[in-house]
Amino acid sequence: MGKLQVLHIGLDDTDSKDGMCTTYVGAVVVDRLIDIGAKIIDYPHLIRLNPNWILKTRGNCAIAIKVEAKDELIPSIKKMVLKTVEQLAELDHETTNPGVVFLKGENIPEELGAFSRKVIQDIVTIDEAEELAKRIGAEFFKFKIGRGIIGALAAIGEELEQDFTYELIAYRLPSNRGKERKIDRESVFKMNELTYPDTFDNIDLNTGEIRITPHTPCPILYGIRAESSWIAEKAHGMVKAFEPIERWVIYKANQATDEHIKSSKISEVKPYRSFVVEGEVCDKPRIIVGGHVIFTIKDDGDKIDCAAYEPTRKFREVIMKLAIGDIVKVYGGIKPKPNLPLTINLEKIEVVKLSPIFKKLNPICPLCRRRMKSAGKEKGFVCKNCKQKLPRETVIIGEMPRSITVGIYEVPPRARRHLAKPLVRLSPRIW
Ligand code: ATP
Repeated sequence: MGKLQVLHIGLDDTDSKDGMCTTYVGAVVVDRLIDIGAKIIDYPHLIRLNPNWILKTRGNCAIAIKVEAKDELIPSIKKMVLKTVEQLAELDHETTNPGVVFLKGENIPEELGAFSRKVIQDIVTIDEAEELAKRIGAEFFKFKIGRGIIGALAAIGEELEQDFTYELIAYRLPSNRGKERKIDRESVFKMNELTYPDTFDNIDLNTGEIRITPHTPCPILYGIRAESSWIAEKAHGMVKAFEPIERWVIYKANQATDEHIKSSKISEVKPYRSFVVEGEVCDKPRIIVGGHVIFTIKDDGDKIDCAAYEPTRKFREVIMKLAIGDIVKVYGGIKPKPNLPLTINLEKIEVVKLSPIFKKLNPICPLCRRRMKSAGKEKGFVCKNCKQKLPRETVIIGEMPRSITVGIYEVPPRARRHLAKPLVRLSPRIW
């Protein structure tokens, strides 16, 4: 009898805009692993990578599964995984370039952990991934150009030891994919009422949109994000679907953790990455064509534009209330656009300090207590009632109340990135 081995399996880049999803390939691999007698350790991991990466298909995710199996079972596990990817991946699409990585042993090398952080926050090359795999003794398989080995390695390297969430994903029958999703809306509202905030981003309450169902032709019927696996499963039991569920899986994920965000000065921000930057509002928020709201912040002499785009709806109203001199921390990604300055696409904003806004007010008439009127340019004030006059110097400088308070504000669920941490997750939990 062979001894038990731990094997990490990483998968990525199996889908195209027309269909499939790497989470589905992962779910099929999980079921087949169970069928062939491998023991799955922990939940499979769903790792979201850099959301600003230009070559992603949709949500830039990769999957890692950790198994324990007897030595003699390892070759058939590897064979099954590669066969599943070959069978399910959209290989006819030029942009689908799957990668599979196998890493033996319990421990994740430190270097691999650092690589994962880089793929989540930055950009790496296929060569970098290949060299790392060779150095740490990971076996990799490239389909076509095999760009997927980047995500596959990164998924193995993110051990989810700090912040993490869960997502239960239910999949559709192949015959239903591409058709309208049939879900009982009321059941989703009820589920949200009973499980929020232990499940989150189920509904956008401002627009009434159901957020658990995607709008793409992928195999996903719905996904429920949750703080624990058992809440996810309970919520799944509350959602009524009017079409069969082919299979479902619970992933442990780095979703809703802000793992993509790096703290930075304005001078250090780079396109295709996400940052949190503290600065002073130096240009009043303005609405531009398309309903987007733009304002500018500065730190140490550098400036950068920040944008709340139209889909963020009411969040833009918060931004419009900012004033020059306010101190804010802005969270968001940067995707350069031709002929436009670098702009942080806001996911969240913390208003750290409000600057006082002063306004000149006419004085009150000392005789009849009514507010006086201007007596003409540079002529002081006059009371329309009793004709009392006061000189220009009696003008009152008053501090105006602000219509925004110090605190953190976020975009609504409909505009939220998979990695963005919702405010409801920032508050402490009582279990
Ligand atoms: P799915 O959600 O089904 O996995 P996707 O949106 O994740 O689709 P992919 O089809 O996986 O997109 O394409 C992303 C490709 O880019 C993968 O090959 C992945 O390895 C690679 N990749 C992801 N993040 C980075 C990054 N930060 N730097 C370089 N390459 C990356």
